[in-house]
Amino acid sequence: MREFGYRRVHDVPGALALLGADPDARCLGGGTNLVDLMKAGVERPGLLIDVRELPLDRIAATDGGGLRIGATVTNSDLAAHPEVRRRYPALAQAVLAGASGQLRNMATVGGNLLQRTRCGYFTDPAKPCNKRIPGSGCPALEGEHHNHAILGASEHCVAVHPSDMGVALAAFDAVVSYETVDGPGELPLAEFYLPVGETPHLETALPPGALITGVTLPPAPVAAHSRYRKVRERASYAFAIGSIAAALDVRDGVIRDVRLAFGAVASRPWRAREAERVLTGGPASAEAFAAAADAELAAAEALPHNGYKVTLMRNLVIAMLSELAETDPAELNGGTAR
Ligand SMILES: Cc1cc2nc3c(=O)[nH]c(=O)nc-3n(C[C@H](O)[C@H](O)[C@H](O)COP(=O)(O)OP(=O)(O)OC[C@H]3O[C@@H](n4cnc5c(N)ncnc54)[C@H](O)[C@@H]3O)c2cc1C
Ligand code: SF4
Repeated sequence: MREFGYRRVHDVPGALALLGADPDARCLGGGTNLVDLMKAGVERPGLLIDVRELPLDRIAATDGGGLRIGATVTNSDLAAHPEVRRRYPALAQAVLAGASGQLRNMATVGGNLLQRTRCGYFTDPAKPCNKRIPGSGCPALEGEHHNHAILGASEHCVAVHPSDMGVALAAFDAVVSYETVDGPGELPLAEFYLPVGETPHLETALPPGALITGVTLPPAPVAAHSRYRKVRERASYAFAIGSIAAALDVRDGVIRDVRLAFGAVASRPWRAREAERVLTGGPASAEAFAAAADAELAAAEALPHNGYKVTLMRNLVIAMLSELAETDPAELNGGTAR
């Protein structure tokens, strides 16, 4: 590991001044991803700016029933918050499905959004990788890719985003707030992550020197009737091979509102808007759920060893929507840690 500086900041202007003055400076949240990548030689910041003592650790209700979540709220505090569990149960479940209790106690909301892919070629500096060294190639295409993308990828990179939390945030139209020395800004999650295209090394639309200050969840009554399900290769402490956040509002047999987002299938949490379009205004039947899954997954492009994800996601859509259609909303609050 090469030498680096460390500064702890206590106010946002102080953090922005340091970030603006040094292009090699990086925020340090819980450090659960960044420090691992520094040890591996993948990340090489010159200065770490520890943001954990910034006054960004609150969760507050917004007018109309939404929530504002500070960037340094830990994953544990987010999942345990009564209003998160009541208004957005899929979000609490998604966070609890990630990592371990110890990691969730350290990991922050800002850091979770910006965690890097777990592609084994990316995390090994001895290997070529377009995301780490633009133009060096993508060995995953011909190599190990059983947990790589089936949607929205390109010939330049087929890595998936590993966040569980981000999948629920995508389903509920979260908006990311940030600040730079030039002032504040906002990015809807749908615009926060950039398309892969020819530039997989450019992952987000955040401007240089940006400090994420929080995430806002707009009011969404349907979110109170939501669930998150994660499929992984062992029962706990593993990243998803496919996951889904789903919310459903059915009245008189007709779907009034539905939210669907997929995890571990694309370079970003994947909002399944085509499936939502097919479902809205129609019947809440297994046939309709299957047709919606097929409509969304028609765009899937599987590699030789990850075609199972198309079937997996189809089955998850049908199973989750069927469960929600049969479940009393009062039974859906929160979740349990694994
Ligand atoms: C063994 C293991 C298993 C895991 N399993 C899962 C899992 O199943 N599901 C899952 O979703 N995650 C999982 N994780 C990932 C974990 O959730 C992330 O490491 C964590 O969320 C990152 O948060 P952090 O605060 O520690 O980020 P850090 O490691 O501190 O930072 C990550 C990135 O975010 C940037 N950053 C942090 N805060 C800010 C800010 N406020 N503004 C701007 N930039 C910022 C940093 O500069 C860095 O680039 C796992 C991690 C480990 C080590
Ligand atoms: S999939 Fe992306 S991250 Fe993995 S080797 Fe290819 S370019 Fe690198």
